Amino acid sequence: MVYYRPCVLDEFIGQKRIKDELSVYISSVKKRNDIFPHTFFIGAPGLGKTTLARIIAYELKRDLKITSGPILDKTGTLAAVLTNLKEGNILFIDEIHRMPKPCQEILYTAMEDFALDIVIGKGNTGKTIRLALPKFTLIGATNKPNLCLAPLRDRFQLTFKLNYYKDEELRDIIIKVSKNWGLEIEKDSALKLARASKGIPRQALNLVRRLREFVLLNSGESDKRLLKVSFQEFERFLKLLDIDEWGLTPEDRKCLLTLYKDFNGGPVGLTSLALSADITPEEFEIIYEPALIRLGLIARTKRGRILTQKGYLYLKEKFNIPYKEETQCLFSS
Ligand code: ADP
Repeated sequence: MVYYRPCVLDEFIGQKRIKDELSVYISSVKKRNDIFPHTFFIGAPGLGKTTLARIIAYELKRDLKITSGPILDKTGTLAAVLTNLKEGNILFIDEIHRMPKPCQEILYTAMEDFALDIVIGKGNTGKTIRLALPKFTLIGATNKPNLCLAPLRDRFQLTFKLNYYKDEELRDIIIKVSKNWGLEIEKDSALKLARASKGIPRQALNLVRRLREFVLLNSGESDKRLLKVSFQEFERFLKLLDIDEWGLTPEDRKCLLTLYKDFNGGPVGLTSLALSADITPEEFEIIYEPALIRLGLIARTKRGRILTQKGYLYLKEKFNIPYKEETQCLFSS
């Protein structure tokens, strides 16, 4: 399995505003040899939250400890992690919203006062002792910030919301990653893969991984050389994966067809639509829906998801499904 992770901020493509701001903080912390401020990254899985945390640690030459909300399910486990930290360490907690409430509460004093309050004994005889912690940085990541307690959210000095990437940004990531993995891919082909990546670098990397396997299998060459992906080979790859000229995959088409066939074009609730299309509601909401909305094929209304006029036209073009004239007025905006 091949991996790719940018190590420095300059190598990180996209999210310009976040990069610019982080660059200022990194320089200033470096200059003062200070502790990096507690930072909260919000965004869908695969957008680069862990990568940014690694970059901050790398640029500052600080140790990074990586853990996640589901692992820190007991206050004792969290206390052990916190007491093992050293001055300047960066603690990255992925899916921080999945920490139970008592664990989130422990972080209040840990972040603000670098202290850990431990309760010994129960009831009236119980007493609290305070343990000093080394000064550290907490980087929390989540796609569900509302599930974090408000006082925890408030204790992050920096909050960044990562956006889905533009096709051109993903194209550049794809070209860079391909090169890294020994593939030379044309700009146009990279853009086609980018369109099928749903605005998410992890999806883009997965597609490049599959392309690499495909090319290596067909070439019979050792995987050490830089292999050029010809236009014809790339088109065969797209055909194999059934990715169309819109960048839509069979799963995307299934979502649209389900919305049309099972729900008469909507409106329909998230869970019903996702389950009918054999996708988990979370996957639908995070991966498929944002891309279909960006393409203008579906829309979110107060009453649920609907197929747009463009969505109907897409289905007509692909599956010769009759376009419903009576719905036109609904979607003419
Ligand atoms: P998250 O923590 O948000 O789930 P990751 O940081 O694990 O996402 O990123 C997923 C994959 O995508 C990693 O392999 C990472 O190297 C790559 N990646 C993410 N963002 C970028 C980017 N802006 N440029 C290049 N690669 C990226």
